[in-house]
Amino acid sequence: MKIPFVDLHAQYQSIRERIYESFFGTFSEGCFINGAAVGQFENAFASAVGRRHVIGTANGTDSLFIALKAANVGPGSEVIVPAWGHVSAAETVSLAGGKPIFADVDPVYYTLDPAAVISKTNKNTRAVIAVHLYGQAADVATLREFCRDQDLVLIEDCAQAHLAELDQQIVGGFGDLGAFSFYPTKNLGAYGDAGCVVTDNDRIAEHARRLSNHGALKRDDHTLEGVNSRIDTLQAAFLLAKLPFLNSWTQKRIENAGVYAEQLAGLEYIKLPEVRPQSKHVFHIFAVRAKRRDALRNYLLTHRIETMIHYPKALINLPAYHNSTLTHSGQFPVANILEEEILSLPIYPEIKREQILMVCNKIRSFYKS
Ligand SMILES: *Cc1c(COP(=O)(O)O)cnc(C)c1O
Repeated sequence: MKIPFVDLHAQYQSIRERIYESFFGTFSEGCFINGAAVGQFENAFASAVGRRHVIGTANGTDSLFIALKAANVGPGSEVIVPAWGHVSAAETVSLAGGKPIFADVDPVYYTLDPAAVISKTNKNTRAVIAVHLYGQAADVATLREFCRDQDLVLIEDCAQAHLAELDQQIVGGFGDLGAFSFYPTKNLGAYGDAGCVVTDNDRIAEHARRLSNHGALKRDDHTLEGVNSRIDTLQAAFLLAKLPFLNSWTQKRIENAGVYAEQLAGLEYIKLPEVRPQSKHVFHIFAVRAKRRDALRNYLLTHRIETMIHYPKALINLPAYHNSTLTHSGQFPVANILEEEILSLPIYPEIKREQILMVCNKIRSFYKS
């Protein structure tokens, strides 16, 4: 029995008829950009996450870029981003003309450490990007207070955290803007690239919508320069069909995480993920820390169990940032240790309990040998 890291086919099989309907519906309408499904999905997603505005975009990276531009990040602006995680937050700051300033993550939850953010803030700081990593909310309650106090824009990267909560509030609403991705393997995934920006602020929403569509709200209405980054009608139609299942898929992920936690409890070589108090972790990724990580990963692979590493390198250690003086300012002990130890186990909603038990058995037998 092979255990893949993700199984998009299993999910597609369970909703095949609805996907066909979305597909044929879009083709009969024949409006592939800004068709009816775009507005319908934006409205449906707005009520799912409790925001006033949702602006569809071409992908999660563009969502971050548009959020930064909507926050007026440009030359001279410094933006604090986590030293550990996906490269998009840092690269979009540079793309917008600003400077990414790396701050270490906290050692328990692996999300942006507010103390590190405070120490990296100066008169050029314009914004902070908090990433809700692996499905766990960052400490955006603390960061929100700090950003309000210092007059900084707070942007939440929600690409891995659809429906995650902190203090009973869904992420995406703590900051001025939230950026989502609907990359196929995300908790809510399209069948191609897609994303969106969310906000409760009417003025920022209009700015973001213009930015995503050449500066225009309608044809020939270019009040500013933007980009072409819209959600395709077809992807919006697929997402609209999948959205009603997001809650139950999320519950399955949480249950699966529970099985892992129970089966791997007490293993001294494995550190399980911890859930922040007063929060809902949606387990986009089940990331453990493992001693002899690479050997374990190979051992699992010989038993046909796929795992992944999110991420093989801390952002500060990526070749893309080698020449950046910013990466060398200060220490990043947590990001550096995660690079050695982090390992992602399969956790998609459709994985079977027996499969999780198999993964756990093999992990135990690896450490016995
Ligand atoms: C996937 C992801 C992105 C980028 O989303 P794309 O749609 O692939 O551009 C950004 N941030 C995080 C944390 C992600 O996981």
